Amino acid sequence: GSFADLPLNPALLATLSRHGLTTPSAIQATALPDAIAGRDMLGRAQTGSGKTLAFGLALLTRLAGRRAQSRQPIALVLVPTRELATQVTTALAPYAGAVGLRSTTVVGGLSLQRQADALRRGTEILIATPGRLNDLTERGDCRLDRVEITVLDEADQMADMGFLPQVSKLLAQTAPDGQRMLFSATLDGDVDRLVRRFLTDPARHSV
Ligand code: AMP
Repeated sequence: GSFADLPLNPALLATLSRHGLTTPSAIQATALPDAIAGRDMLGRAQTGSGKTLAFGLALLTRLAGRRAQSRQPIALVLVPTRELATQVTTALAPYAGAVGLRSTTVVGGLSLQRQADALRRGTEILIATPGRLNDLTERGDCRLDRVEITVLDEADQMADMGFLPQVSKLLAQTAPDGQRMLFSATLDGDVDRLVRRFLTDPARHSV
């Protein structure tokens, strides 16, 4: 298969090609059609599988060219660590730029005020760790009720780190009829409860 066979935004296809990426990985080939169709998604995939572009290309195709109303994010990517937030931000930046979407990253350990200021300028895509985003929503610096697409990346790690109460609280603030995609290497216990509470008839893809 080739990326050109998938229903991707043309500007994203051009960006993939510019980065020398021609062939979708297994998780990308299997998950992208369902994700672009707007289905909830349960992906069992490890780091290195290409899962970042799997959810990234889907949400960017769905939101291409949109503008944040009231400067509120319309997509949210929750990750367990600051390092992963940086990786996801860097990996998606050229693709987001290609379809005219802005992204903002909020993580612990950096100035809360600076992140609040960045949010006030307006962003379509918010990439965040749960603790810091929870601080910002509680302070009234960020509202999530216009979030239409939520990604939970490495949900098992967020569970291991004790973040699921905060993750649930944040998910409950997003649009109830929005799309949710959850990626995890394992799907037991706490992660399964999260799936049953927040995902509706998810497409299941395992690689
Ligand atoms: P991830 O699993 O999302 O952390 O991605 C792992 C690595 O695979 C990253 O360095 C990506 O740039 C690379 N990658 C993602 N998709 C593809 C692809 N379709 N072809 C080649 N490399 C890819």
